[in-house]
Amino acid sequence: MNQHLKEIEAVLKTVDDPELPSVSVFDLGMVHDVKVIGSQVLITMVPTFAGCPALDFIKRDVQKAVGDLPWVSDCEVHFSFEEKWSTDAITDEGKTQLKKHGVAPPPENYQPGEEWTVDCPYCGSDYTSMENVFGPTACRSILYCTSCRNPFEAMKPVVDYVY
Ligand SMILES: [Zn+2]
Repeated sequence: MNQHLKEIEAVLKTVDDPELPSVSVFDLGMVHDVKVIGSQVLITMVPTFAGCPALDFIKRDVQKAVGDLPWVSDCEVHFSFEEKWSTDAITDEGKTQLKKHGVAPPPENYQPGEEWTVDCPYCGSDYTSMENVFGPTACRSILYCTSCRNPFEAMKPVVDYVY
């Protein structure tokens, strides 16, 4: 990997998803592609959830962070709605951080329309129930662990971007 890409990756690891403090957009697997042309940087990102109101903030934060690199004159950020984000894209570091904050990543291999369950981030039990589908943000739900009796948050699985 060339030096400039390495620097951009390091910067992206410092940009947190505003709705998931301490988990970077890089570790969430949102960075799909980075192109460097001279001093210009073009970043393609994949949203974790359609219509997530945080996208504008993420775009601004990424542009600012990457733009602060001394050799970067211009940074553009695009969100691609053609690429599908999935749990597999979350790095191991990202999964650890999510669990630390009591947020369960969405189920892997989720098929649209299926009911979904997630493991409790505290005790690992899959004996959890949906408390409130809406949760604090459009991207997350509140679940309740029947084993250790902790409420926790889960990221919703991505369904379709077109409704
Ligand atoms: Zn539990």
